[in-house]
Amino acid sequence: MTIPDIFIRKTNADGTFESNLTPAIIFNYMDFRKLLMSDDIAKLCDDLEELRGYVADAVGFKWGNGFFRFSNIFGNEYTFLITGNHKGWRLAVWDHHGGASIATTSIPKDSKERGEVITKVLKATERHTVGYIQCSACKEEVPIATANKHAYFAGRYCDTCWDSKYKQLEANENYN
Ligand SMILES: [Zn+2]
Repeated sequence: MTIPDIFIRKTNADGTFESNLTPAIIFNYMDFRKLLMSDDIAKLCDDLEELRGYVADAVGFKWGNGFFRFSNIFGNEYTFLITGNHKGWRLAVWDHHGGASIATTSIPKDSKERGEVITKVLKATERHTVGYIQCSACKEEVPIATANKHAYFAGRYCDTCWDSKYKQLEANENYN
């Protein structure tokens, strides 16, 4: 694979080493698209894992969520994860601040369809950057401020879906 720029985030402005820093590998949105358009997703996952190991070793960091990110056209960063196997691959994207789910989708085999899916995912992050998120249930777009009041795990919900279902699930969760 083409190795992109690797950013290793440091806590100190003067560049001194921090042993407890959290690394992240950030692709710009054009490289993110190129990665996802790969003919061989299994190999891509292996390559990413190799890259993760390389960076983790470089900073002495063993494990972490949110290792892989892409930055959208506004420069905001989103965490992504590819899961699955040769029978089917899935892409999940989260807001790296709050862990809110931005998009989960299958990765189509057909390259035209796949291109459209990637465009949709990037659009979803752009809408998120300017203050909107899709309801995790009905996919209606809602202001983030509203959705953050209606959170169940990584899901964020509109008023209607929250009141009809997720409010109760979240309440049950709290009693356990
Ligand atoms: Zn909804």
